[in-house]
Amino acid sequence: MLIELLEEYFKREEPHRERDYFYVSEVGKCPRQIFYTVKGFPRPPLDGQTARKLAVGEDAHRRIVQAMYGLGIVVAAEVPIPPGSLFHGRADAIISLSGKNYVVEIKTVHPYQFDKMSADPRTDHYLQLQLYLHYFQIPQGIILAENKATQELREFVVELDRPEVARVLAEFEELRELIFVRGALPPLPDKSLWEYDQCKYCPFVDFCRENVGQPPKISLTSEVLAEPPDLPTSYPPAERSIGLFDEP
Ligand code: SF4
Repeated sequence: MLIELLEEYFKREEPHRERDYFYVSEVGKCPRQIFYTVKGFPRPPLDGQTARKLAVGEDAHRRIVQAMYGLGIVVAAEVPIPPGSLFHGRADAIISLSGKNYVVEIKTVHPYQFDKMSADPRTDHYLQLQLYLHYFQIPQGIILAENKATQELREFVVELDRPEVARVLAEFEELRELIFVRGALPPLPDKSLWEYDQCKYCPFVDFCRENVGQPPKISLTSEVLAEPPDLPTSYPPAERSIGLFDEP
């Protein structure tokens, strides 16, 4: 009764944005899945439970950043990568401890993954932090992981790893050429390097199985094909498209 209403409330379509860059959070992701996302292939809406899980992660980020502000150690929060870079993204925080700056990347982690991270951080988390260290030219950072079930914390202090940054940048430069310039479907990835089975959560499995490289054509319904309604005649045609952010 109420659950159905809430599921509908939380369910949402993920907007498709034209872009020619990657998000830091895409490091470690299946390149094919990135291709399908970038090209706007249709996908089912985000279900209510997944949307709520994401909201819990966002709340944890806010709670921890707020606590770091309370400690008086925050230099900046939600720091964007300089515009025009191959990657876009925002570091959770830059803090100062004992006279040194650290980039902090906060991750909420499934209990199973959290247990696996007893000695080392997850590779994708490590590489994402490396990109922030590179773009901000800060030589050290901290991956702060919170167990989603118990709120236990674990931290990994890491140094800027220039060879790994160079490898990731070269890999994504190649992917940029493939996806954005040539518009080609990347080959199937080497799944043995994955830390979990991404196919299990992939919304594009059917396209991938058939090696589909072109988004399906949208069939126009009679409603879409219908003539647009007449605009009020009191508006001169030139003003009809002016929006909040358009030049007057
Ligand atoms: S089904 Fe697997 S290999 Fe194919 S795009 Fe999705 S995650 Fe990648």
